[in-house]
Amino acid sequence: MSLTTKQKENIAEKLKKINGSCPICTQKNWTIGDEIVSANSVSLAGSTVMGGPFIPMVQVVCNNCGFVSHHAVALLGISIND
Ligand SMILES: [Zn+2]
Repeated sequence: MSLTTKQKENIAEKLKKINGSCPICTQKNWTIGDEIVSANSVSLAGSTVMGGPFIPMVQVVCNNCGFVSHHAVALLGISIND
């Protein structure tokens, strides 16, 4: 699902309240990804698990060094109606 401009603005506002320095390069120049993503579950033996519950996440990319952070959508206060 693509994020709307309003949703991305709400996410940026929420993240701005947290000190948003990149943990790698200390810059504060981020881009919010266009899509909501999830991580695949895997077993300790190395097999991939398809389906099942997941945590919807937003990707935030540092424009200086490329570091990517993931944030749980449920805690960012965005609405599907925005
Ligand atoms: Zn960085």
